[in-house]
Amino acid sequence: MINILKEIERISETSDKEVCGIVTEEDGRAKVTELKNVSDNEEICFIADQRQFFDAIKKTSFYDKSRRSNIVCFFHSHIHKNETPSATDMKYRLKNILHIIYSLTTKRFFLLYPEGGRNAE
Ligand SMILES: [Zn+2]
Repeated sequence: MINILKEIERISETSDKEVCGIVTEEDGRAKVTELKNVSDNEEICFIADQRQFFDAIKKTSFYDKSRRSNIVCFFHSHIHKNETPSATDMKYRLKNILHIIYSLTTKRFFLLYPEGGRNAE
């Protein structure tokens, strides 16, 4: 199984803009899908491309109970900030899904669990 954090780090480190995406799992196999950031200000925030977002969601049990693919988490990167979720991140997150934030500044992850966040060890 791929290391999800390593893959999120790799995707984040290849861009000077905030990246975002979704991690799904089917039969124990994780899949990391980057979604296009359509924000006008991609260096400091992200807005996932709506079509790509729904295309990804539609293939999962979150949308369609007959699907075997499950959402593991959403992720995005911070360029100039640390890994702590911003007020916007807290406001717009889907509250029952894990969010992972990776900071290019600190090289650290923040795992924002539905029940509350913490820094990755
Ligand atoms: Zn953020």
